[in-house]
Amino acid sequence: MLPIRAPQVQDRREKGGGNVRDVISPVTEGVVASVAVASVEDTDAAVDRAHRAFQDWRAVSPGDRARLLRRFAAVVDDHNEELAQLEVRNSGHTIGNARWEAGNVRDVLDYYAGAPERLSGRQIPVAGGLDVTCYEPLGVVGVIVPWNFPMPIAGWGFAPALAAGNTVVLKPAELTPLTAIRLGELALEAGLPEGVLTVVPGKGSVVGERFVTHPLVRKVCFTGSTEVGKRIMAGCADQVKRVTLELGGKSANIVFADADLARAAAAAPGAVFDNAGQDCCARSRLLVQASAYDEFMGLLEQSVKAFRCEDPALESAQMGPLISAGRRASVASYVDDDAVLFRGTAPEGAGYWMPPTVLGARSTQDRHWREEIFGPVLSVLRFDDEADAIRMANDTEYGLSGSIWTRDLGRGIRVARGVEAGNLSVNSNSSVRYWTPFGGVKQSGLGRELGPDAVAAFCEVKNIYFSTEA
Ligand code: NDP
Repeated sequence: MLPIRAPQVQDRREKGGGNVRDVISPVTEGVVASVAVASVEDTDAAVDRAHRAFQDWRAVSPGDRARLLRRFAAVVDDHNEELAQLEVRNSGHTIGNARWEAGNVRDVLDYYAGAPERLSGRQIPVAGGLDVTCYEPLGVVGVIVPWNFPMPIAGWGFAPALAAGNTVVLKPAELTPLTAIRLGELALEAGLPEGVLTVVPGKGSVVGERFVTHPLVRKVCFTGSTEVGKRIMAGCADQVKRVTLELGGKSANIVFADADLARAAAAAPGAVFDNAGQDCCARSRLLVQASAYDEFMGLLEQSVKAFRCEDPALESAQMGPLISAGRRASVASYVDDDAVLFRGTAPEGAGYWMPPTVLGARSTQDRHWREEIFGPVLSVLRFDDEADAIRMANDTEYGLSGSIWTRDLGRGIRVARGVEAGNLSVNSNSSVRYWTPFGGVKQSGLGRELGPDAVAAFCEVKNIYFSTEA
């Protein structure tokens, strides 16, 4: 067992005053670490420290800030394997995915290290003077991270925020705090001053809510459920606090009869079962054009049955267990045996396992078709034509991502433009590239992360007018 303690709650714990929570492996159901849990007082102390650190961090020259972020990226890279192994133990992610996730943190740090020296304002023509705009950091930014992608989502928040000159308080999910705590230590090792990135492990209802109500936290970046996101937005409204929300999804995977069916069928399991379906971008609604339905479903059955759900530490693993017993029970509540078309396999015994499962929907009103399940469950329906596909894809409160499979480029463009979602891909599963914007429409979220504009979202634009009158 790893006795892991976050620095800001260590003192209270050593005095016997702090709470401690066991972190459970979803693979073995055993305890892998013991983590201190922050109180409201600990959170306030962390925010105060971050606020003090902000006064110095904002004044660090752009070149030096860039160098520190690059050094942080290099230190994360040096610890890629350690971070990945930690994620496998804490979250049950496959080792291949976990290495990618740690690499993604390195990449976003490197990418946004290019920003401080390029964050230029404008000079706007005026009579009788000179008018300039400048980007100024907001202050302390609160980043609230869910348990499904602990490393990348933390990095998407802190890398652009730090590049802009803000300081960050970061709350990992209670179930998955280990890699965040390690990233906080690595930031110090890389030379980031104390208080610039502070990890505050604890409950959402305590630490997360305090980020929302604390007047010195000037922006909250939240990723998680739509329900909690709405509460956070309402809380932020009280102080007109800036907020970014990355919420749930129920994305469509649309397969037209003219597509490369073999390629689409080979990609479909990864599009929904990757990370055991615990992915806001999961393409969990499969729409297949009626004229190709039988052929495509035959190919899909083969690829689902070949999808390797096994010990995530194995190099061959494509899917691990669900994060908790509670999540498994919730996912299982959607699976009615009568609706099962076919399943893959999963290990038995210890661990929160569930096989990849494909359900036939009777209509768009089926609960498994409409609700975000957040597990390895794919719902399937047929459609007739392009208009039908767009109508069905848009018949949801969500709008995060989706895929379109067709050999007709014009159709790919028309459907991609017609589907209401923030991130679409044609003949591909991919949703996330750190240099392109990511985010949802409708109840999938508000604002964009990643891409070239993310740093500006952590700034205020100040306008200054200089009179040239004598
Ligand atoms: P939550 O939205 O509850 O949790 C996400 C993060 O928010 C966690 O760090 C959590 O803390 C924190 N949090 C919880 N309540 C509050 C609050 N009142 N104020 C501030 N922060 C808070 O997600 P769940 O873990 O309950 O998952 C439920 C469902 O949400 C999933 O089944 C899935 O449908 C969806 N979801 C979507 C995600 C996405 O990527 N868009 C990610 C995760 C979930 P803590 O857990 O420590 O209490």
